[in-house]
Amino acid sequence: MKSIRKALRDGELVKDTYERVTCAECGKPLKTENDPDTITTIRRCPDCGSEWKELR
Ligand SMILES: [Zn+2]
Repeated sequence: MKSIRKALRDGELVKDTYERVTCAECGKPLKTENDPDTITTIRRCPDCGSEWKELR
């Protein structure tokens, strides 16, 4: 899974006018899923289901 930072660099993700990370393809802000067992936060696009990881 690609990191948020890398995806922003690659243009897969973009920031909207409110600084929210959105899927470049769907234009939807990503949902956040916290896994209490790991330090990684999963961000998922509600439209296409693509996932990126965010390191806290
Ligand atoms: Zn999407």
